[in-house]
Amino acid sequence: MISNDAKLHANKCRFCWMCRHLCPVQLVSGKEVNTPRAKGLLLSMIERGAEFDKDTAAVMYECLLCDACTNDCATGYNPPLFIREARTEAMVLDLVPESVQKVLDKIEETGNIYGEEKPSCAKETGKEVLLYVGATAAIKAPEMVKAYMALLDRAGVGYTVLADEPESGLMLGDLMGYVDEVQEEARVLSEKINAVGAAAVVVMDSYDGQIMAEKYPEWGVEIQAPVKTAAAYVAELLKAGKLTVNETAKGIAAYHDDDRMARYYKDYESGRAIAKACGYETVEMFNHFDLAKSAGTSVAKAYMPEIVSGVAAGRWDDLKRTEAKVMLTVSPEAYECLADTVPEGYELVDLFSALLAVAK
Ligand code: SF4
Ligand code: SF4
Repeated sequence: MISNDAKLHANKCRFCWMCRHLCPVQLVSGKEVNTPRAKGLLLSMIERGAEFDKDTAAVMYECLLCDACTNDCATGYNPPLFIREARTEAMVLDLVPESVQKVLDKIEETGNIYGEEKPSCAKETGKEVLLYVGATAAIKAPEMVKAYMALLDRAGVGYTVLADEPESGLMLGDLMGYVDEVQEEARVLSEKINAVGAAAVVVMDSYDGQIMAEKYPEWGVEIQAPVKTAAAYVAELLKAGKLTVNETAKGIAAYHDDDRMARYYKDYESGRAIAKACGYETVEMFNHFDLAKSAGTSVAKAYMPEIVSGVAAGRWDDLKRTEAKVMLTVSPEAYECLADTVPEGYELVDLFSALLAVAK
């Protein structure tokens, strides 16, 4: 059942071309149906009596939920709102594409999109911070997590990482929409986090941070401590002099603003401050700050790897148009997507490992 709000947004988008040039999926596929406008048109036709069929369902999954369209919309419309609800409709009508169903089966088996047991990063040195690692960081960027924990140790921050860390609802929410099951995941995780009683919750993945900070309150789920991104927290430690570095010059690099840091948190400074502390001189890619082009998401990569590979390659193309040979990121999701497409002669650097290398 599509909400009236989502129908309104779909109706407004259906004849509008204004943001199509920003859609990373459309840029890779070249298909008209991948524009936000076409998705709005499809959904509005269904509201006027057309059938919601398998092809419609497939099209609704060809989107990263990256919010580049929403961010650029002068009239305040939000395609991911109706695209996500259309995914719920696809679930209800049993029309979910096979590639998506396989990922849902993996979540059923193991709790995450990878179909692997999430390695435990459990540790307790204090309660200043509850560090929420998340499945992507734990499975696809373990070195980033190790480096981050070592930075907290170096700064003398007492922290706790949960044993058997529950999922945040991020992955299921992207695949099914914000259904009861997702809200139940939120409740389970919030209870575990609140039971620790840490002064702040720090998330390795800004995508987890966004769902906790934006969606949990809408569902009446409260995380009692403020939720901060890993990059923002480390930038605070640098600013407060709790982390210091050996001066070094690393050369020119470009920082990739991931979707949530760029468009939900609008935090363009933390990553660049860490890059500077590492000794990098940063230059900007064509699309940066809130206009940053997505490098793909882990959830989308799990069911449409070819498209996400093309999206990530597009981000490397943006880098190639600068004088930098190094792409910097603080996002485990961007790291996972960009790592498979590093062009010859270029380098992908996770900024937490880079900072640890120069930290005193
Ligand atoms: S999000 Fe805004 S700019 Fe994009 S299609 Fe909809 S109305 Fe047009
Ligand atoms: S959310 Fe991103 S991928 Fe989806 S329609 Fe908008 S710009 Fe395209």
